[in-house]
Amino acid sequence: MIKVHSLASRSHTLSDPQTQLEVINQHTPRLCTLPRFEQMLEQTGLWPLQPTQIEILQINLGYMCNMTCKHCHVDAGPDRTEMMSRENLEACIDAIEKSDIHTIDLTGGAPEMHPDFQWFVERVSRPGRKIIVRSNLTILTTSKKYRAFPEFFKKHGLEVTCSLPFYNKYTTDRQRGEGTYDRSIEALRRLNELGYGMPGTGLELNLVYNPAGAFLPPDQSQLEDEFRKNLREKHDVEFNRLFTITNLPISRYLEFLVMSGNLEEYMEKLVDAYNPAAAEGVMCRNTISVNWQGYLFDCDFNQMLEIPIDENSATHIRDFDVRRLTERAIKVNQHCFGCTAGAGSSCGGATT
Ligand code: SF4
Ligand code: SF4
Repeated sequence: MIKVHSLASRSHTLSDPQTQLEVINQHTPRLCTLPRFEQMLEQTGLWPLQPTQIEILQINLGYMCNMTCKHCHVDAGPDRTEMMSRENLEACIDAIEKSDIHTIDLTGGAPEMHPDFQWFVERVSRPGRKIIVRSNLTILTTSKKYRAFPEFFKKHGLEVTCSLPFYNKYTTDRQRGEGTYDRSIEALRRLNELGYGMPGTGLELNLVYNPAGAFLPPDQSQLEDEFRKNLREKHDVEFNRLFTITNLPISRYLEFLVMSGNLEEYMEKLVDAYNPAAAEGVMCRNTISVNWQGYLFDCDFNQMLEIPIDENSATHIRDFDVRRLTERAIKVNQHCFGCTAGAGSSCGGATT
């Protein structure tokens, strides 16, 4: 298996967000003629796109990860050293306390690798507030320190949402690296032992599926049934829900599309599958994303593409202002078609 390194460590041209935007907009003549995402929103009566209510703060703790998955839109990996400072974490706490945000969504990289992960969770955890940790599962098998994390998750009632590209070893390891499937199953079993994913415990364990190639995800509920049947029969593993996520043409997934000659066809597929109902429910309408430097973005994808949030609203977590953020216009570009294709896609899976 070919070892994957981050675009940043290879000084790849696609590590530059501006280059990524140019590629998805005009890499081929056909891409230049595709309908614009804002035109489609206009036809749907959603232009300019505005938030409904700010309910979720998604905090990207940093880009360091123990893995280097082929399709990572964050371009994360062990060589990425960007990490949120204690000062910015404190600013996140202040923002949460002075707003009605009910859900804190911790992502990365591998959020568990942030040295202040546990400190932060202890500071923000309280009854009635949902904290989601986006875990890659394998991190929970890497050392004694991380093997203890599931107990910590349970102690604070964290919702664990974890990536598992498929219910077999071949597909999973091909996308995420050799040994990923076996280690993921080991971590899922440990979470099950603690009550995660088991009826009546209230400990939510959700899986995330994303396609291994240049295609859209299948029907979420049918695939959930398939995952449940296979994981139960083969490994005695239980979970609550499966979220299907569409790959957006960003970072290493964009590299894959370009290298495999699939970019144009994939973008056409996303545009053709535009669903007005999915456009109504895009996650940037109720979520704000914050990066490791404390800057705010409309979503994690805009963060990776460095598309700045509307300058008329608060742009840094220390200036967090729900009223101004709710009144802002959301910045969109051609990658947004990934959120509105078919059944729609968000960090919580299909949106319709
Ligand atoms: S996809 Fe997730 S687990 Fe894989 S490298 Fe990116 S952040 Fe890490
Ligand atoms: S990519 Fe981000 S800004 Fe665009 S529709 Fe999706 S969530 Fe909204």
